[in-house]
Amino acid sequence: MAGVRDRNESAWLLPNDGSRTNHGLRRDMRRFADTDDIDMVIVGCGAGGSVLAQRLARAGWRVAALDAGPFWDPDADWVSDEAGSHHLYWTEPRVIDGSDPVPMGSNNSGRGVGGSMVHYAGYTPRFHPSDFATCTADGVGADWPLGYADLRPYYTAIEQELPVAGEHWPWGDPHGYPQRPHPVGGNGEVFLRGARERGITAKVGPVAIVNGRFGNRPHCIYRGFCLQGCKVNAKASPLVTHVPDALARGAEIRANAMVTQVAIDKLTGRALGVHYVRDGRERFQRARTVAVAGYSIETPRLLLNSASSRFPEGLCNDFDQVGRYLMVQGAPQTAGRFDAEVRMYKAPPPEVSSEEFYETDPAKDYKRGFAIQTVSPLPITWAEHVAAQGHWGGALREYMSDYVHWSCLGALCEFLALPDNRVTLDEEKDSHGLPVARFAYSQCDNDRALVKAARGVMEDILHAAGADEVITIERYAHLVGGARMAADERHGVVDANCRSFAVPNLYITDGSVLPTQGSANPALTIMAVAARAADHLTGTA
Ligand SMILES: Cc1cc2nc3c(=O)[nH]c(=O)nc-3n(C[C@H](O)[C@H](O)[C@H](O)COP(=O)(O)OP(=O)(O)OC[C@H]3O[C@@H](n4cnc5c(N)ncnc54)[C@H](O)[C@@H]3O)c2cc1C
Ligand code: SF4
Repeated sequence: MAGVRDRNESAWLLPNDGSRTNHGLRRDMRRFADTDDIDMVIVGCGAGGSVLAQRLARAGWRVAALDAGPFWDPDADWVSDEAGSHHLYWTEPRVIDGSDPVPMGSNNSGRGVGGSMVHYAGYTPRFHPSDFATCTADGVGADWPLGYADLRPYYTAIEQELPVAGEHWPWGDPHGYPQRPHPVGGNGEVFLRGARERGITAKVGPVAIVNGRFGNRPHCIYRGFCLQGCKVNAKASPLVTHVPDALARGAEIRANAMVTQVAIDKLTGRALGVHYVRDGRERFQRARTVAVAGYSIETPRLLLNSASSRFPEGLCNDFDQVGRYLMVQGAPQTAGRFDAEVRMYKAPPPEVSSEEFYETDPAKDYKRGFAIQTVSPLPITWAEHVAAQGHWGGALREYMSDYVHWSCLGALCEFLALPDNRVTLDEEKDSHGLPVARFAYSQCDNDRALVKAARGVMEDILHAAGADEVITIERYAHLVGGARMAADERHGVVDANCRSFAVPNLYITDGSVLPTQGSANPALTIMAVAARAADHLTGTA
């Protein structure tokens, strides 16, 4: 942890008076004119965009990050209430398609400074070394144009900046965490007990939730509202981990600025800046370099909406790669009922997990694997779980009044990257008159086999822990891919440094660039990839 404040002062720039926002820093931030030819304009200030902004501002770049959503103030804008937190999500229209369509809305992406991490669950595992070469090793997925060792120093740096708390991690590349593991709630105790009974290794963490005090960010108070935006500032999101430092170092964060197109010079083929709408006015920000970091649906959509005479099929889409290989993890959720009270809400939702089934097991009839984690839904999400089983009316009421007796586990299954799982443009238009994204998704046999296996393991763990009733539903989690990195332009959109093959001064620095997804939650890897891209841009790699 030594020196983290010298690299990123965000936690110390937050107020220490019980409020959550440094209003002075926002009020006094540098503001560029649209006509300023700034060094970098970034589209989206979430996991990838904010890390890039902070790194470049530290290196003295004149950088502005434009985000379609608001600049959140946790005190004024967030409530510890499931129904009252809907405004955190990206709920603009998106069309879904394919034989296994993925529902959009609260379970996919966020809107506003901090991005989806404002309402993510806080779980921050690393990818395993095997994730970077699944094609060579397992004959499925893709090989990344970089290896785990290239990302390792960035994983370590970001884990310190968030910071991450957890037990020593025995899987993948074994490593420790900067903060000790959090105490375990009732749901985690059930998981640990059941796993022990079945001889499965399970560990506490890693979560990007302060355990102790970190700068002016206080300890977690274990009320379980992480998915509603942590009002305490204990859970890491870019709003508290990277934006304050970016502002203090001269970056501009321009909220409520919806980027509608990346402009390209017809003659040189270079990016000129971005068209955007703010306060109902159409504007144009000039920049020497452009980075797109709008999330796996909005990034390919923006590229496709930026078609021009130079790129008639969409920006960077000469080889029909934009929007393809979008991935979502299969996330079956298994709940078990216990006579004793569990009170699964009284802790961060993800606390305990196992990556014992993460990699390909030659004895199984499927490739790759899954991770298992505690998930702890709050009452509305719990009602959705029960209703998905077909329970309604009196039966649903009975399950709801029994809520405190239930424990819940979730799996993340590594669904494979397939070319036809993709974003294209639909005929439907949004409020700006732009075609909305059509997202087609279909599972393959390997995906279904993984869900079946994960479900079997979770049900077994809960039975072993003493559950008298066990129910499982199928769902999805986490979207990545859609503008993947590759060795060349025939197989992807950007290179290992996140620079687009087609436009030399255009970068993509969000989850879209991931060629595979492992069974790990993606935010830490997205931040690490963006930090590495920043080092490439500033010449420090
Ligand atoms: C309910 C939920 C729980 C999750 N839990 C976890 C977890 O525990 N661990 C984990 O690792 N991951 C988790 N995730 C996923 C994680 O939050 C995302 O994978 C990650 O934040 C994606 O990073 P990104 O940079 O690609 O996009 P984002 O962080 O979503 O940032 C994109 C930003 O771009 C902005 N934007 C989009 N289009 C435009 C445009 N045209 N103009 C201007 N701005 C635009 C958006 O407003 C947004 O702020 C969770 C996600 C959800 C929804
Ligand atoms: S449980 Fe902890 S991290 Fe989650 S919202 Fe509450 S204080 Fe924040």
